[in-house]
Amino acid sequence: MESGAAGAVPGRFPFPYTPYRIQEQFMEALYGALEAGRVGIFESPTGTGKSLSLICGALSWLRDWEEKRRQEEAQLLALGAGGQDGLTPQQARPDTAGQPDWVTAFVQKKEERDMVNRLKEEQIRRKKREDRLEKIQRNVQLKYAAKRKRCEEDEAKRLLQLSQEALSQGAGEGALDLPDHNEDELILAEYESDDEKKVVSGLEEDDDLEEEHVTKIYYCSRTHSQLSQFVHEVQKSPFGKNIRLVSLGSRQNLCVNEEVRHLGALQLINDRCMEMQKNKHEKKSNEENEGKRICPFYSFEQMQFLRDEVLVEVKDIEQLVSLGRETKACPYYGSRFAIPAAQLVVLPYQMLLHEPTRNAAGIKLKDQVVIIDEAHNLTDTITCIHSAEVSGSQLCCAHSQLSQYMERYRKHLKAKNLMYIKQILYLLEQFVAMLGGNVNQNPGCQAVSQTGTVLKSINDFLFQSQIDNINLFKIQRYCEKSLISRKLLGFVERYGGPASAVKTSKENQKLAGLQDFLLTLQQGSDKEGTPQSPPVEAEHDQLRTSSPLMQIEGFLSALTNANQDGRIILNRQGTVGQSSLKFLLLNPAVHFAKVVEECRAVIIAGGTMQPVADFREQLLYRAGVDPARIVEFSCGHVIPPENILPIILCSGPSNQQLEFTYETRDLPQMMDETGRILHNLCNVIPGGVVCFFPSYEYEKRVYGHWEKTGLLSRLAAKKKIFQEPKKANQVEQVLVEYAKCIKRCSQTGGQMTGALLLSVVGGKMSEGINFSDDLGRCVIMVGMPYPNIRSPELQEKMTWLDKTMPRAAGQAPSRVLIENLCMKAVNQSIGRAIRHQKDFASILLLDHRYTRPAIFNKLPQWIRERTQVKPAFGSAFAELRKFHRGKLDAL
Ligand code: SF4
Repeated sequence: MESGAAGAVPGRFPFPYTPYRIQEQFMEALYGALEAGRVGIFESPTGTGKSLSLICGALSWLRDWEEKRRQEEAQLLALGAGGQDGLTPQQARPDTAGQPDWVTAFVQKKEERDMVNRLKEEQIRRKKREDRLEKIQRNVQLKYAAKRKRCEEDEAKRLLQLSQEALSQGAGEGALDLPDHNEDELILAEYESDDEKKVVSGLEEDDDLEEEHVTKIYYCSRTHSQLSQFVHEVQKSPFGKNIRLVSLGSRQNLCVNEEVRHLGALQLINDRCMEMQKNKHEKKSNEENEGKRICPFYSFEQMQFLRDEVLVEVKDIEQLVSLGRETKACPYYGSRFAIPAAQLVVLPYQMLLHEPTRNAAGIKLKDQVVIIDEAHNLTDTITCIHSAEVSGSQLCCAHSQLSQYMERYRKHLKAKNLMYIKQILYLLEQFVAMLGGNVNQNPGCQAVSQTGTVLKSINDFLFQSQIDNINLFKIQRYCEKSLISRKLLGFVERYGGPASAVKTSKENQKLAGLQDFLLTLQQGSDKEGTPQSPPVEAEHDQLRTSSPLMQIEGFLSALTNANQDGRIILNRQGTVGQSSLKFLLLNPAVHFAKVVEECRAVIIAGGTMQPVADFREQLLYRAGVDPARIVEFSCGHVIPPENILPIILCSGPSNQQLEFTYETRDLPQMMDETGRILHNLCNVIPGGVVCFFPSYEYEKRVYGHWEKTGLLSRLAAKKKIFQEPKKANQVEQVLVEYAKCIKRCSQTGGQMTGALLLSVVGGKMSEGINFSDDLGRCVIMVGMPYPNIRSPELQEKMTWLDKTMPRAAGQAPSRVLIENLCMKAVNQSIGRAIRHQKDFASILLLDHRYTRPAIFNKLPQWIRERTQVKPAFGSAFAELRKFHRGKLDAL
């Protein structure tokens, strides 16, 4: 959908063009939900201009809200100036019940005075900021002055460095005595209390930055490219010129220090940057620490310039990085400084949903609005972010590194440090013992006697590993405050040896939850071609060489979850090195509770939110949201009803009933029947046909079968056949070839009418890739993609749900879960074909079980309303032929 028209359309909601009726309805409902402080589940199919509706609806509310507050404030101040008698009792009265009248009057007067003073202060601060930003906006000279000052400073720094080098020449190199001058940074400082926080958040130098957080909207989405698209939509919207928007990202996306950036892996970049901040901080208090690396972009003054530039003009991540390079200011920290004054903050999921990350970024949710877009997998995302896995290799390696570190610096470590290090070593020993190994032997050579997967409650795990007497909260705090994993990484980097043990086989190197999620995020952006992202394979390799203790910290903090909310999976395979411990979060709602509790309003939005019950029951009710606070909104599609033909097909051309269960789907007659259906369809459907299978394995089996029976060559006479690749980096190439083939066929005519893409549900092509127009004239779903219920993790989740939730409409919660998982996957896949108002496509669901009411009702409303059930192939085929012929004639 185009949204490029420049002028705003007058009306309640400024919009770049006349909005569709469903967009107006969407904005009305959104406005109402924000005003009433609701938690909303909003569904608007892809291609209906959802982003623009979100932007214009939410920002209209913010505009009105700010105006209302301004008026209220002015009124209060006017009344305050006139003797403060006019304040309403609710506005100012403290609880003074039972006090003598004169006390009540005194207290009330004081409260009123305080409030007026506070309002005045806020007003002054706001005015100061507005003046500053306006000046920057109007006066280009200011920019040049800032630039000139930067150049002068650079030159001064360069000269200073030259003189220092000259001075140090001939001083000779000090013998490497233990601990040498350069090793100070590796030794743990005396561990006392919360002394790190300010350095980490980067706020220590600035009182001015402690400004009030204005009411704002936090908008988050899944991938960086989705966030970028959103920012571009804001830029083009009627709000684009006046909104104060800040885009947040990871250091991997925002770091401009080439030396750090080229480290590639997120964890390594984070470590190096944090180390530099710490050096800078220490350097201030101890001038002797010369020679330690600090980041030249971490300049308070420059970051202030950057912050203001961010606030005067909307910028996406790429523009932020260019600005950082130009102004020689760190965009990662500079953008964070802009949060308090921003009206719209655009950020990736994990920054909002993971509390420690949220806090570190300086995000305050109290009374703010949160919009979570592309939220169809929100429950899984929260689970993934808070799950953590460590391999036997990592545990042994961390033990080896930490023991060597302790030995080397034993005499220089304070007693408390030693105590904690010993406790961590003990934990590592016990974890390895739980996998059936010994930390002192090579994990790759220790065979595991009892292989298999065992699930334990957190308490059982703590008890059986004999660590239940250790306070994990204290250990967690110690790791956080002492930066022990970073010290260890520095130690390993310097002495090399122990790091080699980190490099283990590809299979057993699983990443901790958050890192894993970040990788997924990056893979997403990779797929969509973000230039800065290093290849995924390289990312894996680099992470492998980083500190294993860091990943173990994630696991330790997961162990501090409440017993009933998670499980520990002991996965014993082959050797101790290949085995792993995994924390599985069963109740994602515990981590979502704070978000819904603190925020004024939360909107969970997506193109396909069905089945909605999942969000309501598993996430919101469990997070303590009152059902009365929840609103649901689902709008139809902008395409006319005649542009879509969804059919549930119950049997094939030879009357074989279509039921693809685990037992029946491999039968030759089922595979033959599927082939016949496809063959018939390919004869009458022009352009691209996308056929989804429930798994790679099944697709491979069916393909092999068709190859043997000769069906494949018959199909290939009509459509060129493409298969979904397993590797992410091959997806683009396949898609390009697929698209080229369809275009060629439509231009040249002939017997070949397009291409057939054999795809996989939940695979690389079921999300994020659009099959618009000729790329997808028909989407076929073979069977029902139920998840693998034999997976121990899913089984545990099912048992937990059955124990903790009531039956819904006679169905066990576990049953509802797997049906929901299946239908979410179906909806994601079939929603790929219709992308804009003039698009058209047929959708074919091959399995009679789709007609069951519990399943049928989980289809998106706009598809469900138009779905036809066809017990026999003949009438379905006639319908399809008519549909496509009619469309072809109309083109
Ligand atoms: S301060 Fe900024 S530019 Fe410097 S290393 Fe850290 S993220 Fe990179």
